[in-house]
Amino acid sequence: MSNNPAPSGKPILVIGGGIAGITAAVEAAEFGSEVILVEKEAYLGGRVVRMNQYFPKLCPPTCGLEINNQRIRNNPRLKVHTLAEVVQVSGSRGDFHVTIKQNPRYVKGAVSRAHLDAVTSEVPDDFNYGQSTVKALHMPHDQAYPPLCVLHLDALTDAEKTALQAAEPKDVIDLSEEPRTFEVDIGAIILATGWRPYDANNLDLLGYAENADVITNVEMERLASKGGPTSGKILRPSDGAEPTRVAFVQCAGSRDTNHNLYCSAVCCMGSLKQARYVRARLPDAQITIFYIDIRPIGRHEEFYYDLVKDDHVTFVKGKVARVAANGSALALTAEDTIGGQLLQQDFDLVVLATGVVPNNVDSPIPGLKAESDHYGFVVNPAERSGVYAVGCAVRPAEVSRSVKDATAAALRAIQDVRR
Ligand SMILES: Cc1cc2nc3c(=O)[nH]c(=O)nc-3n(C[C@H](O)[C@H](O)[C@H](O)COP(=O)(O)OP(=O)(O)OC[C@H]3O[C@@H](n4cnc5c(N)ncnc54)[C@H](O)[C@@H]3O)c2cc1C
Repeated sequence: MSNNPAPSGKPILVIGGGIAGITAAVEAAEFGSEVILVEKEAYLGGRVVRMNQYFPKLCPPTCGLEINNQRIRNNPRLKVHTLAEVVQVSGSRGDFHVTIKQNPRYVKGAVSRAHLDAVTSEVPDDFNYGQSTVKALHMPHDQAYPPLCVLHLDALTDAEKTALQAAEPKDVIDLSEEPRTFEVDIGAIILATGWRPYDANNLDLLGYAENADVITNVEMERLASKGGPTSGKILRPSDGAEPTRVAFVQCAGSRDTNHNLYCSAVCCMGSLKQARYVRARLPDAQITIFYIDIRPIGRHEEFYYDLVKDDHVTFVKGKVARVAANGSALALTAEDTIGGQLLQQDFDLVVLATGVVPNNVDSPIPGLKAESDHYGFVVNPAERSGVYAVGCAVRPAEVSRSVKDATAAALRAIQDVRR
């Protein structure tokens, strides 16, 4: 869509600044609508920005996001509020009233070396899913939008606070900032609150809580990333050694009556992609993928068959029953349903393909009338309600599907505000 100089109607509110929310926001703003994008984290990009590469083309996520960042920067109709939440919604299609809470960032511009040097305390690096630590004043990642540091005020000592306030230039840091709320009238709402990983600590028998070398698929993305905890080297967290036997455990907490009954749709492609990371970085490693069914999305069967032909990759059809420490290795027990035998094998690194849980399930937006199914995914009503859910807020989905959803929702929202 090209930039349309004639804005009209009330603004469109987009809640969630992942790939789905960003897409909806820029499409609507470029058409000519006023758009307010609210993201609870300190930067845009959602889960995708924390990936090493994304299928099917295996390009770094920053490729697509950099273009979107430019589109956001160049569009005065799009207002982005990071570290913000919607705390109340009332009204209906064409006439919503929304209260937004802006949390303090404490950082108002580009920090200097003096600011950075004033802080030595460290906090777990959320961007790396806690696999490393980072200074309490830091840039979340290289391409962060907005390009502003994050400050963890709670982690600072009094001496650090004093040094930070004394550092030049002085108007960049404001430790006295408080949360504030503001109200807006809105014509349509796009709900793009996305997903979080299923908590691997719930998977008692798969050893995540006890063994450092049992990691999740999202942690693997960061392990393989240049900006990750090992600068992109795939190493065992316990001892920093290169793993030579790597297992991927599919459906870890998915399609399971004890956990989530649904299929998370993207995990098979996720693990097939990550097996390629291992093949590229550790050419001698042997990879075993334990699966119930391999479900590549849509036309991506080739992605799977290329790996089937690889003699460093073995596929075992069978659910993994247990992962436990065995000296410095991990002993994995699984039923090989095709071979008809109980397998026990040692691995150096085990990657759990944990599934997608909708963020909406435990933090719905107060006052927003949006029905959910019993898993917590939002169900878009057949009739227009002025609220359109997109991306992984609706069901587990890959980027291309999330983007298509978002574009369609932008069109509906534009029609609502121009009625
Ligand atoms: C292991 C794994 C690997 C994957 N790899 C790929 C891949 O290679 N290629 C691919 O196409 N897909 C991949 N996917 C799927 C991909 O992650 C999703 O398609 C994508 O994240 C969906 O984007 P989204 O915007 O809907 O959600 P998200 O990425 O989750 O973004 C949602 C955003 O909303 C924000 N938010 C949440 N609640 C609120 C709130 N109340 N207020 C304000 N903001 C809020 C969040 O902070 C976040 O920024 C993978 C998934 C997994 C599990």
